[in-house]
Amino acid sequence: MSVKTSIEALREELHDHNYRYYILDKPVISDYEFDMKLKELQALEAQYPEYYDPNSPTLRVGGEVTKNFETVVHQFRMFSLDNSYSRQELLDWEKRIQRILGDVDIEFTCELKYDGASISLTYENGELKRAVTRGDGFQGDDVTTNIKTIRSIPLKLKGDYPLQFDIRGEIILPISGFEQMNRERVAAGEDPYMNPRNTASGSLKLQDSAIVAERPLDCLLYGLAGQNLGIYTQFEMLEKSREWGFKVPHTAELCKTTEEVMDFVDRWEQKRHDLPYETDGVVIKVNNLQQQEELGYTSKSPRWALAYKFQAEQAVTVLNKITYQVGRTGAITPVANLEPVLLAGTTVKRASLHNADQIAKLDIREGDTVYVEKGGEIIPKIVGVALDKRKPDSEPTVYITHCPECGTQLVRKPGEAQHFCPNDTGCPTQITGRIQHFISRKAMDIEGLGAETVELLFQAGLIENYADLYILTKEQVLPLERMAEKSADNLIHGIAASVKIPFERVLFALGIRYVGETVAKKLARTYKNITALMEATETELTQVDEIGERIAQSVVSFFENDTNRELVERLRSYGLQMSLTEDQLSNQSDTLKGQRFVVSGVFEKVSRTELKKLIEDNGGKVASSISSKTDYVVAGANMGPSKKTKAEGLGVPIISEDDFLGMVAQMD
Ligand code: AMP
Ligand code: ZN
Repeated sequence: MSVKTSIEALREELHDHNYRYYILDKPVISDYEFDMKLKELQALEAQYPEYYDPNSPTLRVGGEVTKNFETVVHQFRMFSLDNSYSRQELLDWEKRIQRILGDVDIEFTCELKYDGASISLTYENGELKRAVTRGDGFQGDDVTTNIKTIRSIPLKLKGDYPLQFDIRGEIILPISGFEQMNRERVAAGEDPYMNPRNTASGSLKLQDSAIVAERPLDCLLYGLAGQNLGIYTQFEMLEKSREWGFKVPHTAELCKTTEEVMDFVDRWEQKRHDLPYETDGVVIKVNNLQQQEELGYTSKSPRWALAYKFQAEQAVTVLNKITYQVGRTGAITPVANLEPVLLAGTTVKRASLHNADQIAKLDIREGDTVYVEKGGEIIPKIVGVALDKRKPDSEPTVYITHCPECGTQLVRKPGEAQHFCPNDTGCPTQITGRIQHFISRKAMDIEGLGAETVELLFQAGLIENYADLYILTKEQVLPLERMAEKSADNLIHGIAASVKIPFERVLFALGIRYVGETVAKKLARTYKNITALMEATETELTQVDEIGERIAQSVVSFFENDTNRELVERLRSYGLQMSLTEDQLSNQSDTLKGQRFVVSGVFEKVSRTELKKLIEDNGGKVASSISSKTDYVVAGANMGPSKKTKAEGLGVPIISEDDFLGMVAQMD
């Protein structure tokens, strides 16, 4: 078999496994086997760049960075939907269209209204060509690179598909994935995201597609646009799309009468809380496409469809007490402790009050009767106070001035909404919080040690910081509550084993504010060891992709602190990984050290991402715009004319892909 054939066979096979896993939910190989095959393909593609395929399964991991998303005109306009909020409005709509269409039977396809960001995907000859956001309906942004990382979107179609068409759908973030992301953000000292919808739509416009690839996004499809598709009803459209490999929820139903439509609405008003993703209503569509055409469009929306919006679920209950939580970064979060109340299928006892301003804005007081809502947000929130029920002796809430855990006076930096306890070295919750973060699964993943044991160890005076873990002995921990011979052994072994955890995760474990998993990875790969990172200035740090001022400041101030430096030194002395391993470094050299490159255009032998990686791996720096500091511009086909003029004006040499590859190969 030729190399080309085996690359193609491997791609085919991986597309199929993807389909089985993400669409059918019935994988036939293990995740491990899948990863092995993907690695094999990645290796082959790197070795034989001439067989490049813009829709290879290897693109799912992302890596391409888009600075500006190109505007694209939709071939078929993307309409919005008319909304209705009552059954009566729905009945009126049905009467209206019956009048227009005359004395004919009208059937309806009822679908759920998926709550995310709309997307239009263009397929040509069975391959994904382009993905564009809705924008203003006439034109949107080309977000193809990001969309390709979403595993449930087929890059190649199956079966008997039309040669050219657009398919419309909704990019969503399932609730469980959203909650997981938030847990990780909170663990990294970052603010949680508000709701799945905004997070999904924000993800589409991220510059680094590798970050998009890490988010558990999904895409649910609901409609086709094209010419001569050979399809006659909406319901058939859904079925066909499913056959071609798209994820079309099986919740859609064909309804023959108004009663059936009402029944669908009634059922889902209840059942929607059992779904793994959020819906904000039902979309009712005239099933027959001929009839759809007759009904046509208003200036904004089709006359043949109507969205019925579910009411945001609200409950009324009493706010018993406002308490304050201290995070591991010292951030204070006020929490409303409620009289338990049933809301959207779950009992709610607590709601977040966000910060002092929020409490003041709504004038929320203990003892108040409050409205609690669970709309787009996962964490219930208080949306209002029933003032008529307020007791005459009620007193306005006075926000705490001192830390509830250590009594230190709280501070609030200008421009920040949150109060902080500045006593980071003495506040017990902050101390244990940092150690708990250090040992957590995504950080040092220490087996045999849990959050409660950390509390116990701290209370027993055995640990005061994470470095202390490494000098614990079995004899010290044995007397602790619920500790036995075996669990003590496990604990000590678990701690000892963690010295093998790679540098990037150690960096994450340190608990630097705003340095989450992804940022830690970026920093580890850029600086390669902790000494270099500790010496980095704020300006240098902001040069790194995706690292903004806020993160840069936080990193610098973390390492300026003597206690932190000492902790790092201790961890190093216990054998923790403070640099990338030989393996990770072996692909790297210093040949381009200190040289700054700008990459422009399309390349033949390596992708843009690979090219940038080559620059960085060899010690060079990649910048996005040309300045007098630029040493070389590597130009591919279609280099932007303005870049060219600028480079020539500044006398920066423009080199070709081959020139560049020669530079790195020669000096190897
Ligand atoms: P709106 O944004 O309120 O005008 O609602 C229109 C949007 O609903 C469309 O642009 C779609 O992105 C979205 N939508 C979600 N589910 C569906 C569905 N099943 N059929 C049509 N549109 C849907
Ligand atoms: Zn405190």
